Amino acid sequence: MKGASASSTIDATMRCKTKLSWSGLLIITGYIAMATAGCEQQPEKKSASTGPAASASAPLEPQPPEPPDDGGVKKPRGDGKTVITWHGHAAFEIRTPGGAVLMIDPWLNNPKNPKAGDGKDPVGAVDKLDYVVVTHGHGDHVGDAVALAKKTGARLVTNFELGTNMKQLLGYPENQMGYDTLMNIGGEIRIAKEEVMVSLTLAVHSSGMKNPKAGDGDPEMVYGGNPTGVILKIEGGPTIYHTGDTSYFDDMQLIGELHSPDLALINIGGHFGMEPGMAARAASSVNAKLVVPHHFGTMPILTASPKGFFRKLDATKIPYKSLEPGEQITYLGTEVQGG
Ligand SMILES: [Zn+2]
Repeated sequence: MKGASASSTIDATMRCKTKLSWSGLLIITGYIAMATAGCEQQPEKKSASTGPAASASAPLEPQPPEPPDDGGVKKPRGDGKTVITWHGHAAFEIRTPGGAVLMIDPWLNNPKNPKAGDGKDPVGAVDKLDYVVVTHGHGDHVGDAVALAKKTGARLVTNFELGTNMKQLLGYPENQMGYDTLMNIGGEIRIAKEEVMVSLTLAVHSSGMKNPKAGDGDPEMVYGGNPTGVILKIEGGPTIYHTGDTSYFDDMQLIGELHSPDLALINIGGHFGMEPGMAARAASSVNAKLVVPHHFGTMPILTASPKGFFRKLDATKIPYKSLEPGEQITYLGTEVQGG
């Protein structure tokens, strides 16, 4: 009956979790501690029935007028422009129409970033950053997240386990993460004053995080939760899909059905992720309106080049853009500016 006892413990803790401190929740074993910390089990409230029998007997009431049909597309804020900058490898910066700045997988000190190397300080050069989004725990994706967070106060958007270990082992500031930003695959959160919807997607990869505090005999890598990709849906602007380091998987078609991204940032370098042929198939499966490749050329083992990828895309008619590190794409609403 061990299983039954454990599950009722979790039920009880889930009901009373709002009474508990954040730091307690960061520790998985906190679930057990919470159950013994004096939380009372509350009887579950039954919600009103909305089944067919209930609705059949309910009196008809006047309905409010239907809202105007805007096709689900909201107007962008500010100047309406979304600017996406590639900093090399998997690192992208996104400035929203409302002025929020996000960075995905911010390894700014990668060898292809023109703002890095030769004594340059790409982290010191960042004057505003509101959110750091990390797809998985590998060092070339966690990158400069902690240094950026300490400099700018950026909040951390990632999966719960990776966020927790980045706090505990890498020193990401605890007060720059919480239930508003830590999440998991399948959920959606809204950040940047509701301007951006974030959804983590499945990724077939791994997510070990290097532990700088590992002692002799300790494993060098710790659990970083499940690897993910990420969807960013910007109010009145583009929907962006970043694949992380995923391999191809069939459920990319579901990402296409649900989100049909205006811009798909697809890893193509092979070895640790997709080879160009499967990357092109991914672009088709997610129904991308524009594709930008990343995660190539940064390390000698990432041998695949965008040429092969673009040749495959030519056969599919999917538009693509070849960026150099440091280059930008600007959207006005959901339209790319400047071709
Ligand atoms: Zn990786």
